[in-house]
Amino acid sequence: MKKVVKFGGSSLASAEQFQKVGDIIRAEEDRRYVIPSAPGKRDAADSKVTDLLYTLWDTASQGQEYTEIIQHIRARYDAIIQGLGLDLDFTEEFQTIEEKIREGVGVDYVASRGEYLNGRIMSAYLGFPFVDAADVIAFDADGEFDDRRTDKLLAERLENLHTAVIPGFYGARPDGTVQTFSRGGSDITGSLVAKASHADLYENWTDVSGFLMADPRIVKDPVPISTITYREMRELSYMGATVLHEDAIFPLRKEGIPINVRNTNDPENPGTMVVESTCSKPRYTITGIGGKKGFASITIEKAMMNAEVGFGRRVLEVFEDVGMTFEHTPSGIDTFSVFVNQHELEPHEQQVIAGLHRSVRPDMIELESDLALIAVVGRGMRRTRGTAGRIFSALAHAHVNVKMIDQGSSELNIIIGVENRDFEAAIKAIYEIFVIAQI
Ligand code: ASP
Repeated sequence: MKKVVKFGGSSLASAEQFQKVGDIIRAEEDRRYVIPSAPGKRDAADSKVTDLLYTLWDTASQGQEYTEIIQHIRARYDAIIQGLGLDLDFTEEFQTIEEKIREGVGVDYVASRGEYLNGRIMSAYLGFPFVDAADVIAFDADGEFDDRRTDKLLAERLENLHTAVIPGFYGARPDGTVQTFSRGGSDITGSLVAKASHADLYENWTDVSGFLMADPRIVKDPVPISTITYREMRELSYMGATVLHEDAIFPLRKEGIPINVRNTNDPENPGTMVVESTCSKPRYTITGIGGKKGFASITIEKAMMNAEVGFGRRVLEVFEDVGMTFEHTPSGIDTFSVFVNQHELEPHEQQVIAGLHRSVRPDMIELESDLALIAVVGRGMRRTRGTAGRIFSALAHAHVNVKMIDQGSSELNIIIGVENRDFEAAIKAIYEIFVIAQI
């Protein structure tokens, strides 16, 4: 077995956390390739090193004094090094960072040092070889991620390394310029290493024991999800659940490598397995409920629109012309609605209305704002009779008015549009009918 293990910032925020991580890695010889994030928060009032590094670069680029910030960052690393009793000195490393800043280096380089330095500590602590992500994670000259070259570089480099530490979050362009992924991108590095090394499992260690069936800020003590498929997770993550970076899913999904989301502070907990497909029956009909507020709908009414060739295309083209994406397009015989992100619509609102008038000559256009979308997701919903009925009767009992319904053709999800103010009540009602009522 070969496992790639990624540890998030809170798992590596202090020497004590590093020790827990060390114990986890040493507990299984299969845990061979380690991807560290930068040190995260030690408590709610603390700062993430990555945030400090962005502040450092901003301050320096405005020509302001930054010595204090850099000392603060250095102190975070020195505390970890001392706490672990390592013989490691970052004086030169910090001199290099300061020199580069004076030379006007880009923000990505500075931000990436969080992972780079934590990787150096991890490598010394575990006695695993250090592989600089700048040598194996490739972006092209335009800054686009280069998956083929990355796959090749990683495979070649790891072929002769039984163990390695590869810092997360960054890589480099062909000319050596360091570039980062978007925030939370160490998850992506871990997934790329798992893919290139043909790992059997990608363990993603964080500070929660996997995915929960609903947002714990809305539902009290939601049941953890033991197994979820990639498709289900996509449906949920797109609706706001953010345990894993969504770009971390694609490389693994293609290879059928499962992800196990685990908790560094509760290593006995099996966490959540994310798999391509499974026969394992979910405990409840639904796997989870996700959702997001802040949508708007544009409803176009026109008699006989169903007989008009190209109607839908012309409507969507109006949104394309202003560079907007859309979420859903429920339609009726003479109506067609487009659900979009409200904040994306705001700057283009009048342009969209004018564009629709010009292109489809509607009888009426109606805008509605402050809507929320809720995704009820589950492989168990397939071929299960009455799921929709249960959802809507639960919502009716909770006095929630349903504005839109959209069942994905995969029967994997039902999307419900409600008013923003009904969002929490709707999620609670759905959770209660499928989970509490079953316990
Ligand atoms: N340290 C980076 C961030 O805070 C990347 C990561 O932790 O995955 O976004």
